[in-house]
Amino acid sequence: MDRVSHWIGGKVVPGESGRVGPVFDPATGEQTHEVDFASAEEVGIAVEAAREAFPAWRATSLSKRADVMFSLRELVDQHRIDLARILTSQHGKVLSDAAGEVQRGLENIEFATGIPNLLKGDFSEQVSTEVDVYSIRQPLGVVAGITPFNFPAMVPIWMFANAIACGNTFVLKPSEKDPSVSMYLAELLKEAGVPDGVFNVVHGDRVAVDAILEHPDIKAVSFVGSTPIARYIYETGTRNGKRVQALGGAKNHMIVLPDADLDMAADAAVSAGYGSAGERCMAVATVVAVGSIADELVGKIAERLPVVKVGAGNDPESEMGPLITREHRDRVASYLDSGTEQGATIVRDGRKDAVYEGDGFFLGLSLIDHVTPDMDCYRDEIFGPVLGVMRVATYEEAVGLVNDNPYGNGVAIFTRDGGAARRFQFEVGAGMVGVNVPIPVPVAYYSFGGWKSSLFGDSHMYGPEGVHFYTKGKVVTSRWPDPSTSQVDLGFPRTR
Ligand code: NAD
Repeated sequence: MDRVSHWIGGKVVPGESGRVGPVFDPATGEQTHEVDFASAEEVGIAVEAAREAFPAWRATSLSKRADVMFSLRELVDQHRIDLARILTSQHGKVLSDAAGEVQRGLENIEFATGIPNLLKGDFSEQVSTEVDVYSIRQPLGVVAGITPFNFPAMVPIWMFANAIACGNTFVLKPSEKDPSVSMYLAELLKEAGVPDGVFNVVHGDRVAVDAILEHPDIKAVSFVGSTPIARYIYETGTRNGKRVQALGGAKNHMIVLPDADLDMAADAAVSAGYGSAGERCMAVATVVAVGSIADELVGKIAERLPVVKVGAGNDPESEMGPLITREHRDRVASYLDSGTEQGATIVRDGRKDAVYEGDGFFLGLSLIDHVTPDMDCYRDEIFGPVLGVMRVATYEEAVGLVNDNPYGNGVAIFTRDGGAARRFQFEVGAGMVGVNVPIPVPVAYYSFGGWKSSLFGDSHMYGPEGVHFYTKGKVVTSRWPDPSTSQVDLGFPRTR
């Protein structure tokens, strides 16, 4: 059994806590690795390595830090297929999707290469006689990232590219379900010239997470995962005096207005509902059909499902892979039962597909119609290939559904009416809005984040808000007096 250990101070460090977790290949159901679970002491060792590396890294010039990011960009680009293969073998998503994930991560590294420009401050000359004022942003120190299983490469990169470019040192606690890709990234960071101790990885569960939240030398925590844990991370981290951004779960709606191109809308619903087996925080979970189009739209979605090829992620023919674990697959499938019991119509039951019978953690594409707000399949984040359809009479009802929902991550509207789309972006309560775009993940030079229970904290992730999160501001008021104008003045400083 292969073992996945920690990465501390620029090298692999075997765990000594005696606690480990299993890692599976979701396509076969076989356990392939054992991952070490860090104790609080082991987290402390990683934090100490990061603390020791901080002064020298912070003092490294901006041009050198940018240089390292350019090298990292080249290395991730060169190794994107290896990264994608590792990712697929533990997550299950199909190779092309894994490569897409690496690409979106790469864009964040490209953004971080611009760090000299991103950290430029303001300067005001002669705010008072012979007095200048300027602002600078400085790194925080040791910062940590805690990441989910569903984007084991992209989400860590969202965090560490900006954090490190800003001059911080980093401790990553990746998901214990697919931990190997972060170890490969650690090797690439080292090869790119990131000094030992600047980037560290500790694996584990709640013990490691709590050690991060309680460690006095960790100044900030970035988290992405489910809402209950995001809330816990935010409350515990801030109580311990840390800066925290904690992104949670989602229930994303795709509203289809009666004037929309229904073929285009059906293509989008299937792509965004079932891509990565629905295990995306920006997946479309609910299609909201407005007016009389519902039967036709459901028909068009349903006719597209049988032709989607479900299979192992490393099979180039596969379009949708398995789910992350057997327990998660079974939980996702249970919504087909609760939906039936609560009065919904099962249009397609993915448990009837042959893939469901094998040892892998597969569930075929499933579709539930006539979903209503009180049903469990609407109230819960399912996070699997089960798409729900709701039917409403008006645009106002559709927007009301989104705005009443506790989550507010992504949302999309499909229409040909520019005025309706503009009204929608004005009044909808979600952080990321798509107009005829079903998965509106912002590019790396904007920032990513939802509203309501999809984000705890004040800043969104990556892009300009990421740089802001990983730095603190300082304003310098400076006077180089001309000796001929110097005088004693006991008054409160004011401009003159
Ligand atoms: P999760 O919340 O179970 O785990 C996330 C991280 O928290 C992991 O590193 C895990 O080890 C740790 N963790 C789990 N239970 C914990 C506990 N009790 N105490 C302390 N730490 C704990 O999430 P997941 O299942 O890995 O990922 C899927 C979830 O992430 C979904 O809800 C999805 O919507 C969400 N997600 C959100 C975004 C976003 O940007 N908003 C992006 C990706 C995923």
